[in-house]
Amino acid sequence: MIVVLDGPAGSGKSSTARRVAAALGFIHLDTGATYRAVTLAAIRAGTQLDDGEALGALCQDLEIELAEGQVSLNGRDVSAEIRSPEVSRAVSLVARHPQVRAQMVALQRRVAARGDIVGEGRDLASVVFPEADLKIYLNASPLERARRRACERGLDSPAGIEALAREIEERDRIDSTRAASPLLQTEDAELLDTTSLTLEQVVAQVVAKVRSLRA
Ligand code: C5P
Repeated sequence: MIVVLDGPAGSGKSSTARRVAAALGFIHLDTGATYRAVTLAAIRAGTQLDDGEALGALCQDLEIELAEGQVSLNGRDVSAEIRSPEVSRAVSLVARHPQVRAQMVALQRRVAARGDIVGEGRDLASVVFPEADLKIYLNASPLERARRRACERGLDSPAGIEALAREIEERDRIDSTRAASPLLQTEDAELLDTTSLTLEQVVAQVVAKVRSLRA
């Protein structure tokens, strides 16, 4: 079974997908982590982030593995490094390029072939898994999304929240206006607004939807 959660940064996709996967015994597929791993490799290699050809060639030499909540790049665990502010600021620039996306989508589909999955990202319902059994578009107000990210990073001062709000706004702008697989809510996806819901409530709703499909 394939369950997908798409939505903008801070809408609750990662925490929800992780917990839903644990509750159901599914694989958690964090597709953002694949783009983050390429971005980390590009920063290390000094590859120009506007050079799609060079980034595509770089991807061919990378070994990215997603397993048990960990991300490895050429055999080394990079789960923490891919969440750095430097990678977060650059990732949307890398993910814009079709040469990168084609290879990441192939990798994401290989992971999905291993079993039942809960995937999260931007283009899973539209491009990666159009045949998914359940498609959910998670959203939350911009302020709430910035507040959540600030909390995760221990920056919950007004200035910290404002800086993250700007970073998220810029990432959403690039992600939803790019030509290749932009962030969007497909017609067959259900909208779940998480602004005033707790994580437990969101998880319970998604798990209930999956169980009703399986019954
Ligand atoms: O989900 P996360 O915030 O880790 O995603 C990081 C970035 O990776 C997004 O801002 C987007 O640019 C890119 N991404 C994407 N398509 C996906 C998942 C993530 O373009 N399916």
